[in-house]
Amino acid sequence: MAAHLLNQSESSIPMGPAIANVPFLDLKAQFAEIRDEILDAVTRVLESQSFILGPEVEALEHEVAEYVGVGFAIGCGSGSDALLLAQMAIGIAPEDEVITSPFTFGATGGSIARLQARPVFVDINSDTFNLDERQLEAAITPRTRAIMPVHLFGLPANIDSILEIAAKRHLPVIEDAAQAIGARWKDRCVGSLGTLGCFSFFPSKNLGGAGDGGMITTNDSQLAQRLLILRVHGARKKYQYELLGINSRLDALQAAILRIKLTHLKDWTLRRRRNAERYRELFAEYNLPRQLVLPCSPEPCFQVYNQYSIRVPERDELQRYLRNQGVSTEVYYPSPLHVEPAFSYLGYSAGDFPNAEAACREALSLPIYPELTFSQQRAVIAAISHFYEHEA
Ligand SMILES: *Cc1c(COP(=O)(O)O)cnc(C)c1O
Repeated sequence: MAAHLLNQSESSIPMGPAIANVPFLDLKAQFAEIRDEILDAVTRVLESQSFILGPEVEALEHEVAEYVGVGFAIGCGSGSDALLLAQMAIGIAPEDEVITSPFTFGATGGSIARLQARPVFVDINSDTFNLDERQLEAAITPRTRAIMPVHLFGLPANIDSILEIAAKRHLPVIEDAAQAIGARWKDRCVGSLGTLGCFSFFPSKNLGGAGDGGMITTNDSQLAQRLLILRVHGARKKYQYELLGINSRLDALQAAILRIKLTHLKDWTLRRRRNAERYRELFAEYNLPRQLVLPCSPEPCFQVYNQYSIRVPERDELQRYLRNQGVSTEVYYPSPLHVEPAFSYLGYSAGDFPNAEAACREALSLPIYPELTFSQQRAVIAAISHFYEHEA
């Protein structure tokens, strides 16, 4: 039956624009621009045969601290570990509550649950996809120990209000800045706004390594000292275990590669922002339907567009159509954390966070990577336009 319907609907649509070739992300294009620099860095590390932590990692830590504008940066194994270590450093314990968004990657809530603390979700603002600070105070209880806003898709959460509420209750703020390196709120970078900032170097992030990696930033020297110990089994000196830690070290190959890429990050960020601006212009030019909502970039945010996420009611149909036209898109995220089986023990149910649930039905991320060309962007918009002329 499905095949019959498909044939019928396909034959009823006039030929669209020529099949495009627009990948969602093109890391090979990025590598082609920096190949020699990367190979030199990798060779340098291989010749040193020094692989775990060491001078490359320390150098990257200093460079990221400077980039973000903080006193300390501590490398670790992944962005997920950065979230875990940040909470270990402030002493999150079983039964504690940590407030965060349900519209995020699993590691945000998972890192809280892993410490046997309780993720307490607050719905998002539909315009920004970020935690709605107007609903934050109502979620605070005597057990609340931290607030963990996510700077989703590269857009800073509404941090002034969050910090104000946190300060009133003496709560630390842990920023999940995994998607937002270089994003700014006023003139300050994410990762320098709260008590601790957590970054991921997963390959698809704006600053991505050749594998896993992460970093925690802070201006608090005591927390920084604890983090340096916690990431190496809790030992300040080998075999002297001061704290219960984990093994979560950044390796020298990753650090050497990330140091090269960090020198390009400002340029890549500007190219992501230029692409977002071009999309805005193209959407205006093609006069697309009103139900299609573009990402917002409110004052005083400098948005770094790890994702360019539009909203449309007929998201799944549009995504399927675009795939057939050679345009790759992604759904971030198909389901909010509060209805996922892993979090069912928390007792939430569908309907609890309507804005997050609607975003999961409607958000569609378009290609936005720095190497995307204008003609590829035009092909994306032409395909979307064709879908609305003939399908919706
Ligand atoms: C990627 C990501 C993480 C986890 O980072 P990894 O390096 O993949 O462990 C955490 N939170 C958010 C919002 C992310 O996008």
